Amino acid sequence: MNGADGDELLQRLRHFHADYFPLHQQRFQDLVAQGQHPKMLFIGCSDSRLVPHLLTGAGPGELFTVRNVGALVPPWDGSHGLHGTSAAIEFAVLQLKVESIIVCGHSHCGAIRAAYEGVPDEARALKNWLALADEALLPVQPCPEALARTEQRAVVLQLERLMDYPMVRRAVEAGRLTLHGWHYVIEEGDVHVFDARRGAFIPASVATHVGA
Ligand SMILES: [Zn+2]
Repeated sequence: MNGADGDELLQRLRHFHADYFPLHQQRFQDLVAQGQHPKMLFIGCSDSRLVPHLLTGAGPGELFTVRNVGALVPPWDGSHGLHGTSAAIEFAVLQLKVESIIVCGHSHCGAIRAAYEGVPDEARALKNWLALADEALLPVQPCPEALARTEQRAVVLQLERLMDYPMVRRAVEAGRLTLHGWHYVIEEGDVHVFDARRGAFIPASVATHVGA
């Protein structure tokens, strides 16, 4: 970065150091001395409008986070090549022993739209990646309602795929780990949480529990 953008970034870094850090210094130093012990793995879409720490109110040390285009989970069989997301899942469950995994999609997701509409030929990695959402696609024109429904179906599909990871399945069956599917509706400021018993997404503002 250079020019005005670089100047602004530097200014933001200085702001963090001068204004934010002093207020939370002890917390950061404790996290260094004691290590991180986050209880949640957050798998979210890379979309810039999704701000996990704002939604959850989490501070430093609370969310182990991996984000990718579409909040997708690769199959555990390794058939799709190298995957940071798979590595993060294994690390979070086996090393950090997180107690919950959240898969968070959102409204107006460009990844889900692109899964319907296609991507430029040059974007080979993206094309292969978006195939992870294929099973969630509906055999209809992607109108706003179909897109929203697909975004939710994609979240459920990733939860199912998580259960193919042996360490995830073991921990879930032992009651040490719970899985959560979220659909963040940007324009409502509400997260709709997947209720497996009802097979539906319920707005968090009225939901009685958050477990999948
Ligand atoms: Zn998205």
